[in-house]
Amino acid sequence: MNQTSLQAGARSIAGYHPDHLPVSLAQQLVRAAVTPITDTETLPLKQALGRTLAADLVSPIAVPAHDNSAMDGYALRGSDLSSSPVTLTVVGKAFAGHPYPKDVMPGECVRIMTGAVIPRGCDSVIPHELVTHAGESAVTIPPGRIRAGDHRRLAGEDLRAGSTALPQGRLLTPSDLGLIASLGIGDVQVMRKLRVAFFSTGDELRSIGQPLDEGCVYDSNRYTLHGMLLRAGCEPIDLGVVRDDPASLEAALRDACQQADAIITTGGVSAGDADFTRDMMARLGEVLFWKIAMRPGRPMAFGRIAVEGKQAMLFGLPGNPVAVMASFYFFARDALAIMAGGTPHPPLTMRVPCTEAIRKKPGRTEFQRGIVSVDASGKQQVRITGAQGSGILSSMSDANGMIVLHHEHGDLPAGSLVDVIPFDGLI
Ligand code: AMP
Ligand code: MG
Repeated sequence: MNQTSLQAGARSIAGYHPDHLPVSLAQQLVRAAVTPITDTETLPLKQALGRTLAADLVSPIAVPAHDNSAMDGYALRGSDLSSSPVTLTVVGKAFAGHPYPKDVMPGECVRIMTGAVIPRGCDSVIPHELVTHAGESAVTIPPGRIRAGDHRRLAGEDLRAGSTALPQGRLLTPSDLGLIASLGIGDVQVMRKLRVAFFSTGDELRSIGQPLDEGCVYDSNRYTLHGMLLRAGCEPIDLGVVRDDPASLEAALRDACQQADAIITTGGVSAGDADFTRDMMARLGEVLFWKIAMRPGRPMAFGRIAVEGKQAMLFGLPGNPVAVMASFYFFARDALAIMAGGTPHPPLTMRVPCTEAIRKKPGRTEFQRGIVSVDASGKQQVRITGAQGSGILSSMSDANGMIVLHHEHGDLPAGSLVDVIPFDGLI
């Protein structure tokens, strides 16, 4: 995109209003503005967890490679089954990894274990517990217990040879690692990690180890961001605390732009006298500055800067610690996933009743910190963590999910169904 296209793109969207931008529109604009990196690397499978697949992964083999048994029992020919009891001769055994080597003839069967290859000639398995009179050399099969073809796992039923096992852009999960291993593949081509530089702005901020002078606070945003970036699969580059003065800010942004694909700053995007981020971004590149119709996290400067031919996307997040998290999760995270070559999916949402009434202004999206629990009858419910001030980080730690109160909604009575995005998914 050229220098003016971010703004042009924004203005062309219906409902665009820079002072009151609905969350969904802002998300749309951010997603549309970013482009994926192209650098890839090849990693051993175990190191690829959480990385983004760089190309479709095509299965070189069928999984499973052979028809095999789903049960312990006897492999037989379906055509031998009858409406009266049949006695078959047990001609051998098939264990997982030790197939029965010969053809099975009519009237014969093979003792078989789960996972063993179905012997040639057989097409069905009767589980051990369904036969009567199981002897060493013969078994009797009662009528009507199985049909021809039962308890047989078909070759290729998991994956066919030549089919796409996993698509490009996939964020690799533990099950994916297992799936890739089941194809006999030991190395995978993934996108390199996205490099994300971040710093905090504010004269009042002190770093751990420094004395806390009067009126000062310890910088927590860099730690939260470090954690969120690691969880998002990025390489975090911590550039420390930057003072509220234009020269320091310019130097920090130039440094960040040289090192990173994306930059995240916190603080200094409101309209205060010491809020320089937006102007400095505009000097070094192009900025979209929005007041987003959301709480917490109203102001956000988003854009792109370029320094000596190198460019980086820039997310100027607000300073308040909870606002930082909300704006990271609901704007930066998807954009970073797209930049890293991934295909972001909407977060998994649960719909549960709230235990108490929730006050909510229509015309903005509110993200409230929630605690999902199970009541005495086993039903899930959610309550808000109490004080929802955008500086109160402890209630973020108490919460196990974000309650999303949608743009158009007003006050909600107790028992209303609300959407909750849990912080921790299973995989
Ligand atoms: P600002 O957006 O810069 O006006 O900051 C809003 C509020 O967030 C102020 O109370 C700041 O002290 C606080 N704040 C800003 N940055 C941080 C930070 N890195 N860690 C903790 N609190 C912060
Ligand atoms: Mg500040």
